[in-house]
Amino acid sequence: MHVFELPSGVEVELREMTGAEEELLTNQRLIRTGDAVNQVLRNCIVRLGDNDEPVVKDVLDLLSGDRLFILVKLRQISLGDEVELELTCANPACRATNLVTIDIEELETTPYGEDREFDFTLPGSDRKVRFGYLDGHKEKRLAALKEPSISSAMLIRIIDIDGAAPSKKLMNDMSLRDRSTLRQEMLRVDAGVDTTLEVDCESCGTRIRTRLEAEPGFLFPGVRL
Ligand SMILES: [Zn+2]
Repeated sequence: MHVFELPSGVEVELREMTGAEEELLTNQRLIRTGDAVNQVLRNCIVRLGDNDEPVVKDVLDLLSGDRLFILVKLRQISLGDEVELELTCANPACRATNLVTIDIEELETTPYGEDREFDFTLPGSDRKVRFGYLDGHKEKRLAALKEPSISSAMLIRIIDIDGAAPSKKLMNDMSLRDRSTLRQEMLRVDAGVDTTLEVDCESCGTRIRTRLEAEPGFLFPGVRL
């Protein structure tokens, strides 16, 4: 029995991943659309709260912080706490491989509060923005975009601006100051498991920034993809 409390407070029961899930996670087509993770979550979630027959819609309804938390826990129960990563230095003159070991138990999790919508007044334009959280549906829409950007990732969380639906033009016209304060506010209220990794290259000292789930060693230890 692998039972955990999600960042949203809902209880989840998981089963270990098998070869079927590994096949899903190596299917490039399913990875591009984001469906690989959705099907893995659907397969491995035995129970979600009182729901003991979760379907893909239930998985998409989950907030992104809960979804990543489940993925991290699935990795932990299936392959163990320790994740060995080979991080390549981004400095073109260096390109050294840095071996880093992460203990999943040491990742910090922030619980969601009770609110699901937030009001924020942009400091420059004095416009009123209402925004929410990312969930699986929104992640799927982001994955379908040809050129995902910071704008689209912010736009997808905005419910309305001064009561009207947001547009891409509105995001582009927004001053840098308003955009950056809005982005900070979105980050401030965000919750879930913090998978950001920052290490200094052992050879040249360049800062390497990545996310645990973006590294092959997270789900495929010992395999070079
Ligand atoms: Zn380096």
